[in-house]
Amino acid sequence: MTRPVRVVWLYARDMNVYGDRGNVLTLARRLEWRGFPVTVTEYNPGDPFPADADLLVGGGGQDSGQDRIHADLHALGPRLAELAARGTPMLMICGMYQLFGRFFRTGEGRVIEGLGLLDLETRAGPRRLIGNVVVRHPDLGDVVGYENHSGQTFLGDGVRPFATVVRGAGNNGRDGTEGAVHRNVIGSYLHGPLLPKNPAVADLLIERAVHRDLEPLAGTADRFAALSRRVAMRRPR
Ligand code: GLN
Repeated sequence: MTRPVRVVWLYARDMNVYGDRGNVLTLARRLEWRGFPVTVTEYNPGDPFPADADLLVGGGGQDSGQDRIHADLHALGPRLAELAARGTPMLMICGMYQLFGRFFRTGEGRVIEGLGLLDLETRAGPRRLIGNVVVRHPDLGDVVGYENHSGQTFLGDGVRPFATVVRGAGNNGRDGTEGAVHRNVIGSYLHGPLLPKNPAVADLLIERAVHRDLEPLAGTADRFAALSRRVAMRRPR
């Protein structure tokens, strides 16, 4: 790739809780450490959408934040669908994960329509699902994070789970699944933020953005990630 890799942070202003911004920083840093120039574009409602998005990241937010971005997200929908169909890697956390699905029905019974890029539905349950989470990814092993959501998400046949729950609630606290994957779109409830704690997930997204295999990075950041994984495994919920 001759131009910088463009990371687009969807709805940076309204959808950014529990350190989700760290996911963007991690992607940018790990790309730079490997010698790829990077441009990070923060996208907010009404902004022009960049023509050359290589990697998209979205964070969590309160129901009110989801309401604020909803109209703009739908206007952007066909563009995002085209990028997803082309295999553009995307990481959508919690509130954005829900809105990449078909809908989110809030605790008050309001329905916020999603894009339907992921075959899943979310309804608020009787209690919030809050706490540290450990999940097992089929290729990457244990992944840790933090969840805080009222929505309970149920997957359709068009997606596969991102991981299975070892500790915590995950998608709905019932079926043992966490997150969803379709093509290179990953949705997950894991804040934490996810990527600094689990650099292997960051590298998975980066590999798909730059279309090549990556050598592992040896350094303190990855040692810190391994340590934080061990601590999360030990900590009671
Ligand atoms: N508002 C959504 C819910 O409560 C998403 C929360 C979040 O992004 N942390 O389920």
